[in-house]
Amino acid sequence: HELRTPLTNIRLFVEEALEYCEKDPTAVSRCLNVINDESQRLDRSVAEILSVSQIEAGSFEVKRDDVHVDEMLQKLKVDHEAQAKEKRIAYEFDLPPKLPTFQGDRDKIALALHNLVGNALKYTLDGGRVVVSAQVEKTRLSVSVTDTGLGIGPEEIEKVFEKFYRSKNPMAATVKGSGLGLPIAREIARLHGGDILLESELGKGSTFTLILPVAEEKA
Ligand code: ADP
Repeated sequence: HELRTPLTNIRLFVEEALEYCEKDPTAVSRCLNVINDESQRLDRSVAEILSVSQIEAGSFEVKRDDVHVDEMLQKLKVDHEAQAKEKRIAYEFDLPPKLPTFQGDRDKIALALHNLVGNALKYTLDGGRVVVSAQVEKTRLSVSVTDTGLGIGPEEIEKVFEKFYRSKNPMAATVKGSGLGLPIAREIARLHGGDILLESELGKGSTFTLILPVAEEKA
């Protein structure tokens, strides 16, 4: 479904753009915007499916880069500001003055955090609040994403980390998704020796916490 819907939309809007290409440039640009959004969605879905296949094949590997946590969180903030603004969601960061640099797969950890923040914004109603906070204790970094969104009932707390699982909550079902974001994010955390924990209350909101060991290497 997550592959077919964007493809169908791309095909339909390409046909429409071709039909209007001579007489109505605004209609064409509207079509191109839809095609642009839908191709990005398709690109993300294909990448998720590839990641899941790699996880299953045991070939989902982590690289070892310098992960600058402050830069990563700064980018996380900027990347989701438009999405938050569109829904009038207060999107806040509460960070300690000093954040570590550690060895890990920069792109994969960033992807896991983007999935958590993207979900918090998707599953929170207009006018809500999403807060990203971080704590460092000795050799452990925790990044929490707290939202005032739909929340998740106790019977679904573990299920949402299963591949393709999407909540039975009818409000959540209206939001587009593949059910792959959380299993991939948890696998990324576990490959780094960490995990993702979830606390949630239906109707109130959720906190997803990414925990990572961050032993800084001695020079
Ligand atoms: P997707 O969002 O693409 O469906 P995920 O694997 O990221 O897939 O999430 C699985 C399910 O967990 C979602 O379908 C949704 O029902 C639930 N979920 C995830 N994040 C949240 C959140 N912050 N608040 C409420 N429900 C959530």
